[in-house]
Amino acid sequence: MTTLIRNVRIFDGEQSLAGFFSVLVEDGRIAAVVESAAAPDATDADVVIEGAGRTLMPGMVEAHAHLTWGSSVEKIYHQFILPPDELKIAAWRNARVLLDHGFTSAYSAGALGDGIEVELARAIDAGETPGPRLVPSTLERSPEGAEGVETGDVFNGRGPEAIRKFVAYCKEQGIGSLKLVVSGEDALKPGSAQDVLYTDEEMEAAGKAAREAGLWIATHAYYPKAIELALKAGARIIYHASYADEAAADAMIAAKDTTFYAPSPGVSIAALEATPPPHIDMSHMKKSAAERMELESKLVPALKARGMRILIGGDYGFPFNPNGRNARDLQIFVDHFGYTPSEALNAATALGGELMDLKVGRVKEGWLADLLLVDGDPTQDVSILQDKDRLAMIMKDGALYKAPAEVAA
Ligand SMILES: [Zn+2]
Repeated sequence: MTTLIRNVRIFDGEQSLAGFFSVLVEDGRIAAVVESAAAPDATDADVVIEGAGRTLMPGMVEAHAHLTWGSSVEKIYHQFILPPDELKIAAWRNARVLLDHGFTSAYSAGALGDGIEVELARAIDAGETPGPRLVPSTLERSPEGAEGVETGDVFNGRGPEAIRKFVAYCKEQGIGSLKLVVSGEDALKPGSAQDVLYTDEEMEAAGKAAREAGLWIATHAYYPKAIELALKAGARIIYHASYADEAAADAMIAAKDTTFYAPSPGVSIAALEATPPPHIDMSHMKKSAAERMELESKLVPALKARGMRILIGGDYGFPFNPNGRNARDLQIFVDHFGYTPSEALNAATALGGELMDLKVGRVKEGWLADLLLVDGDPTQDVSILQDKDRLAMIMKDGALYKAPAEVAA
């Protein structure tokens, strides 16, 4: 199966290429990227897509995905914990919603059900249900139990041995990345973000066991001690880190070749904008969000300037911050963190691909054909990516998930 996409501008994951190009996709991969004048003969291709000057870019990567946080742009749930049947429906829907909005890869930041994401990732891979490539996780682990979800013993308990059991369980379940809640969370328990939930010994044990099991660790960490512990465990990604001091920032930079950072501003901005009904008190959430945005607006540019790989992803899945709005993060990076549109696109594509450790996130020969054809130029205005109708084509693994209207017809 070959697809020829003709006459496109290209954002290749890092920059816009000058001129117009044709891209040949063969067996799921990008087989050639050539200037339009040297385009391969269209009669050799099974499918020809006329780019008509639109922009071809890599599919986006959501680095902080919560597909089991029920709410999406298509359906809002006002309770956080859903019954198992509904949870599964929501997760399957959310996977499809992310793909509909141009996200062809997602790295899980933890689930509200055990086993569900492994099953979802398998179903996506098998082509049974549409969704992004998914690094699955399970329940977020905190030593004293998490979020009011029913958890077995393996999900909490103290000491290095308890952690080793959890990692072994994750390995057996087929998870890709386990999520450790190292800091408390003000949104769930006001004033708890400063709490450090693990000891040095526990985090060292987590790191060692995960390395041996070939698993990644994602961490929720706000304050310097929690960031230190996340790094001690060799975390693949740190979320938030809002209260990092100079020493914590230095430690993150020292680990920048192996650890990614996702500040996750989407949820903060959404909390600030939310107008909840009278019976829901979001005042502490709004106060915490304002404080975090203020800190991150200095921290993120400073870490970026020092070469940290900083990714988009913003805790989407709350009713006030539903799944499907994930591309908002790009505009937030531009508005609040001083990113150029191309830098925000780079965070959402090539850098996200590095997190996935797959050949995704670039328009480049030999790379997996996860591609978007965008009506307009996102390197001038990243906000257009928030409008799924501007995504004329969504391709994953070389297969057309969404074809331009003229091809679909
Ligand atoms: Zn999260």
